[in-house]
Amino acid sequence: MNEPPARMPTITDGPTDAVPVPPDPIDHAALRARYAEERDKRLRPDGNDQYLQPTGRYAHLLDDPYTPRVQRPPVHDEVDVAIVGGGFAGLVTGARLRQAGIDRLRIVEGGGDVGGAWYWNRYPGAMCDTAAMVYLPLLEETGHMPTMKYTFAPEIFAHAQRIARTFDLARDALFSTEVRQLEWDGAARRWIVRTDRGDEFRARYVTMGTGPLHRPKLPGIPGIETFGGHAFHTSRWDYAYTGGDAAGAPMDALAGTRVGIIGTGATAVQCIPHLARAAGELYVFQRTPSSIDVRNNHPIDPGWFAALGPGWQREWLRNFCTLQTGGFADEDLVKDGWTDIAQRIRDRVVQLVEQGAELTPETMQRAYEDSDDEKMCEIRARVDAIVEDPATAAALKPWYRQLCKRPCFHDEYLQSYNLPTCHLVDTDGRGVERIDEGGVWAAGTHVELDCLIFASGFEVGTAYARRAGFETVGRDGETLSDHWSDGMRSLHGIHVRGFPNAFVVGLAQGANLVSNVTHNLVEAATTIAAIVARAEEVGATEVEVTSAAEAAWVDLLQSSERGFLGNPECTPGYYNNEGRAISAKDRLGMSGYPDGPLAYFDYIEQWRESGRFEGLEFRTG
Ligand code: NDP
Repeated sequence: MNEPPARMPTITDGPTDAVPVPPDPIDHAALRARYAEERDKRLRPDGNDQYLQPTGRYAHLLDDPYTPRVQRPPVHDEVDVAIVGGGFAGLVTGARLRQAGIDRLRIVEGGGDVGGAWYWNRYPGAMCDTAAMVYLPLLEETGHMPTMKYTFAPEIFAHAQRIARTFDLARDALFSTEVRQLEWDGAARRWIVRTDRGDEFRARYVTMGTGPLHRPKLPGIPGIETFGGHAFHTSRWDYAYTGGDAAGAPMDALAGTRVGIIGTGATAVQCIPHLARAAGELYVFQRTPSSIDVRNNHPIDPGWFAALGPGWQREWLRNFCTLQTGGFADEDLVKDGWTDIAQRIRDRVVQLVEQGAELTPETMQRAYEDSDDEKMCEIRARVDAIVEDPATAAALKPWYRQLCKRPCFHDEYLQSYNLPTCHLVDTDGRGVERIDEGGVWAAGTHVELDCLIFASGFEVGTAYARRAGFETVGRDGETLSDHWSDGMRSLHGIHVRGFPNAFVVGLAQGANLVSNVTHNLVEAATTIAAIVARAEEVGATEVEVTSAAEAAWVDLLQSSERGFLGNPECTPGYYNNEGRAISAKDRLGMSGYPDGPLAYFDYIEQWRESGRFEGLEFRTG
């Protein structure tokens, strides 16, 4: 990290971690050429189609290993709001609706409890890379103090359960239940919710918070179905096989076994240190290394936390969002790798302008590239400083811009490769060649394995209904898939024409703030609760976006590149459609408010607080 700014340290400042100084001067042109070369190596004609849905030998990977499925009679009744998905999207929506006085709320959730991503992802070392003070939603409302600057998965799961308890959201919930269809009954002005448990109940409103990274995907490696050893995906960790538990007990049952893990993304980075300690031999099959910045986790001081005044979390959220998206603030409250890169860019802009440059898009681009080059040189230098074997260190260096892939932060990952049991099998961008009954072929050699773990991520960019696992049928039988056949269309990412009384809870077409997902969700939930409260107040039976408002919002999103996330020049990954051309359709699902997340949050607050709810029709009768 850079020298901290000249101010008194806050309690959230971690211990400093000396980072090697990057080469000076940086050869920007040489870096550009290397980045392009590494990217081109990884481009594949099959793009996103390289991935498989878990079927056949792997069909069980979609099962719930944590909660037995208990038989129950089907439900046939009516609720005020059906909340599809019990992750943070559903929970914060439920909380805000409760605060608005809505009585019968029913969460329908495939998992055996609330928690969503944090219910499923129990792999060892799982934690959130976004600081708990801003990531954990509704901290003031629930009175919870995060134990650490970055909290581990069990605490996040417990917080999800705390929200459910605080707002009594489990009362009417259906767990271990998957929605199969939502259908609008125009005559009754009700949604009919059908599930895989034979339920068929009615709801006056539905909210859909199915999560951006919900369905596990597998790498389409030839022979994958022939593997004869034990295999599982990181989002369904098999502690019955590995021993240990999500709370961090060592995975004793792996002693003496040969374990392979495919993938080195954010998930793998967190579980590899644990596997490296537990397995007899660990083989990490790498296609593209992640960038690993400093973590610097530390406990939160209860005295300091207790002194925070009312409204502190909103202040922290806005501060993080401001700094993370290139804005100015007197103080950096979170002060971590996310805000560091953004501040470097911002400070470089100021420097260039002071040196006489005009504030043009070219100046902004140069500031971004200079800062990123500096940051990535530090990250590569850190690899050399930590990893003892020079060839392994060389293979672990990322050659792309930091935000091309999910940036990772860890203080034990790189160190794992110094253990004699931890072997990096680098494939120089090509990936695993094939899998057979005995193990994995990669980089021209065969590795015999007892266990193979897929850290291969989640479906992104596939059809909404496929990822969500159900179809939504709106007015006159139109499906959401039809409505979005040329790409997502909405007002604010929430309202869709032809789907009255239905609300989408997500990131896309709203703030699209990826560094802190829950901030998007809380804002969407607050907006939805305000709309439902208004509908109740005026006795409306239908709330729907007008065609004109939906079209105008889509036009606004398409009018600018600024809210759009994918960069085709980046190394391939789910951030950029695996490096393939990004169609107008794909762009729609990846876009956000053109003036940026903070401007969106200001805009939507004014929109709902004006009481006019422009673009919506409230119909009675
Ligand atoms: P990712 O999609 O990020 O990573 C998948 C990995 O599998 C990549 O390293 C990929 O390589 C590799 N891979 C795919 N196919 C092959 C192949 N044929 N051979 C070898 N390797 C292959 O999934 P993750 O589960 O790691 O992360 C998903 C997202 O979940 C993150 O981006 C983040 O948003 C979220 N997350 C958040 C955390 C947090 O702290 N908040 C923690 C963990 C996850 P390549 O890079 O070359 O494509």
